[in-house]
Amino acid sequence: MRFEVTTLGTGAALPARGRFPSAQLLNVRERLFLIDCGEGTQERLRMAGVNMNRIARVLITHMHGDHFLGLMGVISSMHLLGRTAPLHVHGPADLREVIELQLRVSKTFLRFPLHIHAVEHRSGAPVFGDEVVTVTGLALRHRVESTGFLFREAPQPRHLIKEKVGLIPHYARSAVKEGQDLVLPDGTVVPNAELTAPADPQRAYAYCSDTAYAPELVPFLKGVDLLYHEATFLEELAARAKETMHSTARQAATMARDAEAGQLLLGHFSSRYKDPEVLREEAVQVFPHTMLAQEGCTFQVGRSAVHA
Ligand SMILES: [Zn+2]
Repeated sequence: MRFEVTTLGTGAALPARGRFPSAQLLNVRERLFLIDCGEGTQERLRMAGVNMNRIARVLITHMHGDHFLGLMGVISSMHLLGRTAPLHVHGPADLREVIELQLRVSKTFLRFPLHIHAVEHRSGAPVFGDEVVTVTGLALRHRVESTGFLFREAPQPRHLIKEKVGLIPHYARSAVKEGQDLVLPDGTVVPNAELTAPADPQRAYAYCSDTAYAPELVPFLKGVDLLYHEATFLEELAARAKETMHSTARQAATMARDAEAGQLLLGHFSSRYKDPEVLREEAVQVFPHTMLAQEGCTFQVGRSAVHA
């Protein structure tokens, strides 16, 4: 079942040729989330062949323009495309005022219900959950309040062992998949372990941008399959990173190593780096499984994706 992220924009605040501001599309078992929404995100979605109206939730980390200036365009286009399904937007408390002001002055009356939820700036705080995925906050360190997101897949059912499927009456199959023993009509109990194999592991994805180096997040990121972490600068500009509250590639890699992440995905590259490969080269010295986000590329979330 699908768990993948498409990086729509990988640039930092100032535009660089061929790079766009932050935005990602996350697909967790066909639930679509838009994470951050820099200027031009709707064009990036179109280029990626995504039907915008399939997006149920938008998550915004913080109120810097390169992370939210595209949101009004996305909302307007959803309206023009005839959306009727509700849209949920999660983000900083000030986001509501920004959206409502623009709707008011443009006299736009949306055809669909728009629900804006304020996100609590606290690691582990619940953001959203359903039967497929839970989303919790990550208290990033930045010049304005910035909250990252951790997506954890819900537990999956156990696998029925092929040779044993015939033994299990239809009505009992879902209970057995959930781990219950099978009780046959004559009272015989068949232990679950004889009928099923372990479920696939729960996969997890974390989004950390924008942030200074924040080692206090490591316990919340432990064992995450894919960690997206900003890497605005090289270590030689560590002082600049500290002052602007961003991270270096080396710091991003240190987070991935300490969190025992499966893979690291770097993004939010400063426009001074024409080729972000230098950032990857720095990161792999600390954490080998490091990839670079690229406009329109899709990355799989899961241990099987490592070395793929
Ligand atoms: Zn920022």
